[in-house]
Amino acid sequence: MPKTKHIVIVGAGPGGLCAGMLLSQRGFKVSIFEKNAEVGGRNRPINMNGFVFDTGPTFLLMKYILDEMFQLCGKRSQDYLEFFKLDPMYQLLFSDRAVNVYSDHDKMRAELQQSFPEGSTGFDAYLKQEGQRFQKLYPCIKRDYSSWKAFFSLDLIRALPYLALNHSVFSNLGRYFKEEKMRLVFSFQSKYLGMSPWQCPALFTMLAYLEHEYGIYHVKGGLNKIAEAMAKVITEQGGTIHTNSPIESLIIDNKIVKGVRLPDGSEMIADEVIVNADFAYAMTNLIKPNELKQHSPEKLKKLEYSCSTFMLYLGVNKRYDIPHHNIVFAEDYNTNITNIFRNKTLSKDFSFYVQNASVTDDSLAPEGKSTLYVLVPMPNNQSNIDWEKTCAEMREQVLTAMETRLGMSDIREQIACEKIITPKTWATEENVFMGATFSLSHKFSQLLYWRPHNQFQELEQCYLVGGGTHPGSGLPTIYESARISTNLICQKYGVTFNNA
Ligand SMILES: Cc1cc2nc3c(=O)[nH]c(=O)nc-3n(C[C@H](O)[C@H](O)[C@H](O)COP(=O)(O)OP(=O)(O)OC[C@H]3O[C@@H](n4cnc5c(N)ncnc54)[C@H](O)[C@@H]3O)c2cc1C
Repeated sequence: MPKTKHIVIVGAGPGGLCAGMLLSQRGFKVSIFEKNAEVGGRNRPINMNGFVFDTGPTFLLMKYILDEMFQLCGKRSQDYLEFFKLDPMYQLLFSDRAVNVYSDHDKMRAELQQSFPEGSTGFDAYLKQEGQRFQKLYPCIKRDYSSWKAFFSLDLIRALPYLALNHSVFSNLGRYFKEEKMRLVFSFQSKYLGMSPWQCPALFTMLAYLEHEYGIYHVKGGLNKIAEAMAKVITEQGGTIHTNSPIESLIIDNKIVKGVRLPDGSEMIADEVIVNADFAYAMTNLIKPNELKQHSPEKLKKLEYSCSTFMLYLGVNKRYDIPHHNIVFAEDYNTNITNIFRNKTLSKDFSFYVQNASVTDDSLAPEGKSTLYVLVPMPNNQSNIDWEKTCAEMREQVLTAMETRLGMSDIREQIACEKIITPKTWATEENVFMGATFSLSHKFSQLLYWRPHNQFQELEQCYLVGGGTHPGSGLPTIYESARISTNLICQKYGVTFNNA
């Protein structure tokens, strides 16, 4: 197809980059506008005094989906990126025990046997049945839900019983495991979607299954290298990426998106516009308030959003002897979750995650030093927390928790440099609506047909990619959103494509 059809993409996050990669390979003229100096969005690097951190994603799940995106462009991901499969995948620290979680099933059985009175009895049934759920549901997740007709597809009808609509991830796990902490080993992953395991729809039990089946990967230099590699593919294929180029508004005429407007008033006309910027942010900031009915600013405020996160990125003068990924559970996990999601208040006893990636990858810090990435789930900005006032105190609490729960007694003296992102700065600096770092909540009434459609239902010539559209947040599903939206554009213009 001649490069006569011009696609403008707003944002060079994982969704925008993946869409740009697929469309430039299929012969479209692609122009990406990114407000930041680097590509990647929440998947971009933070560079500080010789230390490199990932801003957001640190767990690469379902690596094969990423591989597929490169294959669709006639490329091999391994020619651009160096992958490390992690085993153990991560360490879970409860107040009374530590559990190493392995993707090797024999090692995992042995660990469960050693860590829990009920042992590994339920593990094989879990793998088998959640594997079946995944096989049935994933083809449905990959399809477009722009129309009700999608619900009459044979694969979805066959998959309906596997949705377990009356169950949450936590209650669904009761089929295999009795103890609460045992169930938490297989349900804390709901936090990847910014949700509580007690609220997250049972279909997401597949998240832990995916880890056990396909493993978790680190990428040399950090997962931000994926964004860099995708940008490279786009330019190799003739696409253009404009960094430091915020888009001020979409040009809309009679509900048809004609292009984008930059802050200096200049316009870029396009045949189709793909919005990768955070969905609710884009709808409230790039479009006039009276333009949309279903997604007006008032209606968007009423939707449910994921939690937020308090982030501490520490460049430290030594290497700590803890695993690559460490998840530390609050002593009273349930109360911490209720405070985050229902009460929207802070907890003194909180769960947190620490990535110590230098144990795997020595390219991230100067010799003998290391990077520590700390993520603390927090209420989103629907809370009334004043982060200007709370930030310093929260930093102290996090450092104390690292001392007491991870044995890093000298952490304060070892800090060479640091950066903090609060729920407030996610909103003000990263353009994330409500600071909800994992986008719209993944409750059932905001999934599939009920999530903003890939072909945006309120405007013509406008498509969505990223965590705010179907299938949802997380790198593999964001790449799927790009595949769905780009396939729809190709179908519109009669461009044949390989759907691998
Ligand atoms: C702290 C954190 C940890 C996470 N951990 C994981 C993980 O371990 N594994 C995983 O799979 N997922 C993880 N995620 C979820 C998800 O994969 C990432 O958030 C991902 O980066 C989202 O991609 P996206 O394409 O939806 O949006 P973004 O990454 O937000 O990209 C949107 C882009 O649009 C740009 N933009 C915004 N406004 C404008 C404008 N007006 N003009 C031009 N450009 C604009 C932004 O600068 C940004 O580059 C994590 C997320 C966070 C925040």
